[in-house]
Amino acid sequence: MNVLIANLGSTSFKYRLFHMDEAGQEVLAKGGYERVSDYAAVIDDALATLQKDGVISSADEIDAVGFKTVLGKNLSGCVIADETCVRALEDFAAVAPAHNPPYANGIRQFAMSLPEARLVALFETAFYQWVPESRSTYALPKSWRDIGIRRYGFHGASHKFVAERSAELLGRSDVARGTASLYQNGPADIPGKPLRVVSCHLGGSSSVTGICNGVAIGTSMGFSPQSGLPQNNRVGDLDSGALPYAVKTLGISMEEAERQLTKESGLFGISGISNDIRDVHQAIDEGNADAALALGHLIDSIRHWVGAFAWQMGGLDALVFTAGIGENDHAVRKAVCAGLEEFGLVFDEERNLACRAVEAELSVDSSQVKIFVIPANEELVLAREVFRKISHTN
Ligand code: ADP
Repeated sequence: MNVLIANLGSTSFKYRLFHMDEAGQEVLAKGGYERVSDYAAVIDDALATLQKDGVISSADEIDAVGFKTVLGKNLSGCVIADETCVRALEDFAAVAPAHNPPYANGIRQFAMSLPEARLVALFETAFYQWVPESRSTYALPKSWRDIGIRRYGFHGASHKFVAERSAELLGRSDVARGTASLYQNGPADIPGKPLRVVSCHLGGSSSVTGICNGVAIGTSMGFSPQSGLPQNNRVGDLDSGALPYAVKTLGISMEEAERQLTKESGLFGISGISNDIRDVHQAIDEGNADAALALGHLIDSIRHWVGAFAWQMGGLDALVFTAGIGENDHAVRKAVCAGLEEFGLVFDEERNLACRAVEAELSVDSSQVKIFVIPANEELVLAREVFRKISHTN
């Protein structure tokens, strides 16, 4: 079965074509477009390119298309991307304005461009379906909770990959196997000592997730991708009292306040320099105190959430770094792991310095808690889920 994974941004379209069968997977092609204004045109161009390059001989050879959708109103999991799914995205477009409209439009476009292909959506919230209600509930009046305001969590595909891969690296193939079909079958009953992992997805947007036996037990992001850690331009956690206070005191509209919280906050907001951690480091080297504060705030927030989930799980077997910052930024990794020897994490600075965007162990061999870098592989999680979904529903 050939599965095309479509990654849709507000002005970008990236794709990866997988051949999937029971034995495993192979990447047949990948490509992408920036500054997209006409989705129909780039989808047609991508399909033509795949044929011109001899990857497929006709568009009919694409059996399924997978979408990493973010957040649907009253809908999560791995689902057929039909009109119900599109409407669920549109009904929460205001909560994920950068992500939901492109996916709603993209799914409709693919339904027209590839009418025979099966379309499947894996929601970023799907990994959090089994988080206990006490941890996904906000202490709000019932009327607020009734309109869907709760902690959903995001980056599900990335943390799911970490859940599976870390279990393999720790020699827990029972957990990796039990976790593999989580979205189809729910959590498996895994006997023996529970495997406790905290996954740090640190990139343009960032989140920390606690994972016990391959299943998320909690995450730093909340109702929208806005909360939790400071993001590149987004604020992260903020006291709800600050918003009305700022609107009144600064004399700005709610819309302007929202814009500033999503576009001018986070690393950019504190540093006043850039939303890219590389520029923040450079400014620190040049003596910029605001840049140092931005980095310090990011590291404190990561440690805060790692500690929360380790405590919640009664301990930790592995701490994992993934995504752009997690895979590349040795200074952030070192600061996150500093001084935790009493908790069983013994960091190896040489291994840390040597690791750039490759899978690696960063702890010393004798460390009770392992520290890993696991490069993100969200597309693979998606391709596997699409394959399982289609195989089950055929
Ligand atoms: P996104 O969340 O947008 O998908 P990524 O996971 O690719 O992004 O992360 C992008 C971020 O990772 C950049 O904004 C930058 O802060 C950081 N980053 C990327 N490459 C490096 C690098 N070589 N060193 C340090 N940080 C990096």
